[in-house]
Amino acid sequence: MCGIIGIYNHPEAATLAYLGLYAQQHRGQESAGIATGNGDKMKIHLSMGQVPDIFSQGVLNTLKGIHAIGHVRYSTQGESHIRNCQPFMVNFSSGSMAVVHNGNIVNALSLRKKFEDSGAIFQSNIDTEVVMHLLARSKQQTIRERITDALSALDGAFSLLFLTKDTMIAARDSSGFRPLVLGKKNGAHIVASETSAFDLIGAEFVREIEPGEVVFFSGDQIESFRFADNNHKKNHCIFEYVYFARPDSHVFNRDVYEIRKGFGHQLAKESATRADLVVPVPDSGVPAAIGYSHESKIPFEMGLVRNHYVGRTFIEPEQNIRHFGVKVKLNPVRKTFEGKKVILVDDSIVRGTTSKKIVKMIRDAGAKEIHLKISSPPTKWPCFYGMDTPSRRELISAKKTVEETRLHIECDSLQYLSVESLYWFDKINNKEWFCDACFTGKYPVGRAEVEKKIRFETGEAIKPL
Ligand code: AMP
Repeated sequence: MCGIIGIYNHPEAATLAYLGLYAQQHRGQESAGIATGNGDKMKIHLSMGQVPDIFSQGVLNTLKGIHAIGHVRYSTQGESHIRNCQPFMVNFSSGSMAVVHNGNIVNALSLRKKFEDSGAIFQSNIDTEVVMHLLARSKQQTIRERITDALSALDGAFSLLFLTKDTMIAARDSSGFRPLVLGKKNGAHIVASETSAFDLIGAEFVREIEPGEVVFFSGDQIESFRFADNNHKKNHCIFEYVYFARPDSHVFNRDVYEIRKGFGHQLAKESATRADLVVPVPDSGVPAAIGYSHESKIPFEMGLVRNHYVGRTFIEPEQNIRHFGVKVKLNPVRKTFEGKKVILVDDSIVRGTTSKKIVKMIRDAGAKEIHLKISSPPTKWPCFYGMDTPSRRELISAKKTVEETRLHIECDSLQYLSVESLYWFDKINNKEWFCDACFTGKYPVGRAEVEKKIRFETGEAIKPL
């Protein structure tokens, strides 16, 4: 998964882009980069690692320009390697252009194969590079026509920002899988994956960039057009609400925190479990646990404390410590659990390894019963639209029933949210607006390509729509 930011027409464009990425670090911790344009030239800096480690004041000083785009990456397509970091920059006959991308282009491999067969050379393994080839090869005359031509050839999820030395272009796929929002700060235009980026840099939310829309920033002009008609069904990713987006963001025109709390209310409404306390798995389970506690009137306790300073790697002692990986991140407040019947709330179970370890940790801390409540349905299908989910072989709910999963996790009961309750916030339009393929196997676009990938991995067929 990834997060993107664009700043158009601000004297401190690189610094604002850096802060915008900082606020969106949760969307990708593997690499980050910023490209700038000063009306004349472009500059770029990217590296593996996290935002504050990559951008020092010295580095930001070299990124001169009043326009900037930036990217944080968690690889879903292409290996974890510097050559796959973004912004991805190319030189066309008309000058340089950089691009950042959040999403997954489902038909990227077939497009790439077609180009390679006709002699094209690719520099990276990322699907985004295909977009640049489509732009370069378009026979259309104007940039507007070329963009329309290129984007119309893509299937799947893309929230994109392009930057040349003096223009910025924002575009979103016609399903609107991934978020993309437009803001302003004094005379500058800001585009970001999430509104939490606007809050940090003091920008004001203007509106979402619409699915199928392209917004062109050039000089004093801002122009909007569509590359796809707006009758296309929207397929916003429901997992942004479940886990991915920050709870303080406003995504798909709704507040993520309120949606997550509502998931907890729904879970409690569908449960008859009696318990002494409700405990979240921090941070991902907190809003749903608050909702659960409000609805059930069972007291909320922060029974697990998270160490916020854990990096991606840590040195383990040579003598093995059991469940070290989870222990280094979470620690129980023992007194809270001793002799108690506990409702433990988390957002999702993917492979099932984390929940198993946390349940064991709470049991060791003295809990009498542990009832695990998950604020989403069982994750049974991999995502091909940009979420980093493993193959079906690794998804515990693809192989096991709820009861078998409970036995594996070793909790006293296990309850998931139903697909219907997931849409508590809009019971009328839900099927019109969201993609829930990770729960239902109903892949809304690129089905032929998705089918090929799933058959290749597991030999299974996907569900009919
Ligand atoms: P596990 O079941 O051990 O694979 O871990 C599940 C936990 O990982 C969930 O409770 C989430 O907090 C988190 N999670 C869910 N989806 C993702 C994702 N796409 N990338 C990273 N972490 C995730």
